[in-house]
Amino acid sequence: MLTHMGLRPPPLTLYLHIPYCLHKCPYCDFASSAVTPIPEQRYLTALQRELQWRRQQLADDPRPLATIFLGGGTPSLFSSATIETTLATISRLWPLENDCEITLEANPESASPQKMREWQQMGINRLSLGIQALDAERLHFLERPHTLEQARQAIAHLKQTGFARFNLDLIYATPGQTAAAWEKELTEAMAWEPHHLSCYQLTLEPGTPFFQRQQGGAWQPMTEEDESRLFQQTRQQLTAGGWQPYETSNFAKPGHHCRHNCNYWSFGDYLGVGAAAHGKWTDDLGRIWRSENPASATHYMTLMEKEPPDDTQHPILHHRLITPTEAGRELLLMGLRQQAGVDLTLYQQITGESLEQCRAIPIAHLLEAGFIQRTEQRLTLTEQGIILTDAILSRLI
Ligand code: SF4
Repeated sequence: MLTHMGLRPPPLTLYLHIPYCLHKCPYCDFASSAVTPIPEQRYLTALQRELQWRRQQLADDPRPLATIFLGGGTPSLFSSATIETTLATISRLWPLENDCEITLEANPESASPQKMREWQQMGINRLSLGIQALDAERLHFLERPHTLEQARQAIAHLKQTGFARFNLDLIYATPGQTAAAWEKELTEAMAWEPHHLSCYQLTLEPGTPFFQRQQGGAWQPMTEEDESRLFQQTRQQLTAGGWQPYETSNFAKPGHHCRHNCNYWSFGDYLGVGAAAHGKWTDDLGRIWRSENPASATHYMTLMEKEPPDDTQHPILHHRLITPTEAGRELLLMGLRQQAGVDLTLYQQITGESLEQCRAIPIAHLLEAGFIQRTEQRLTLTEQGIILTDAILSRLI
């Protein structure tokens, strides 16, 4: 049993996965697929059922939802009626915190001005727009289904609608991308004045078409040195513009960090609903549980169409205890990517051991090399260490 008894339970949030896209991007290894037609009604029914089951599963948990995140996939492909019904189901089942952050991920080709107004009216207060590039050639390379013009129009509409908070998602470090070209794209992104920017490096995930093409010699990925240079350039440019780098790939204007993701990274609790969604929650004995839904949307819907389960071994309601080692590993993996770093007291509470004692040698080396620092009760990466995040993590976990 984990030893976090007596701790105040962390905030509870809800992630809802919509696994459909218009087109499967060749670099993407998320649980999403492009099917026609999208079984929207069938999937909605499955989501509604799961929400009810999850509520029953946590019937004794009085916590309100601090955030709701509709991610994917491409949630904006669903009709506003479906999104509204989903949100109504959630708020019938759970109390929401007064300032509950409700995010919807949208892609430019399926984010019309009318839909944006409807999303806002139904209570969505944060929009995350997957524009990925502000350069026509790079959009073409990434095989995104939207044009540069559509990306710009979607941002303009979003601003006209007056969303309280919005994020732009960008991908960089694509083959041949120059520092000057990336600077130009970032300059335009900043000129749109988003409250939040997520800038991810292109990664070649095994099994994706990009990975295979690169293996086959179709193109050369960017060198690690060039990637590092663009990474630093991104941090410098955005920081100078007033966007704080609060996580390796995420930047926010003061007060506009994504609360939903911060809760993940700080080892908070979250329910995961929908195909491929994972959940993690703490019970009143301080034990931490994990749920893992099947990745296939068809399998997920078929499971949800069966009679409600009467035992916890059902693939959807099955949940297992997270071991202290697993919990500590997760806390490190997520926490060290945040500027706020890892809470050492929490680490000790959930694992039963002190990180500084059980990793004494690597920590001493990393401190001496200037890659990490200890401030109060937290371990954080230094500016030098941030570039080597993955290598540092591999020494610590
Ligand atoms: S739109 Fe997003 S989730 Fe869908 S395939 Fe492309 S990258 Fe993946």
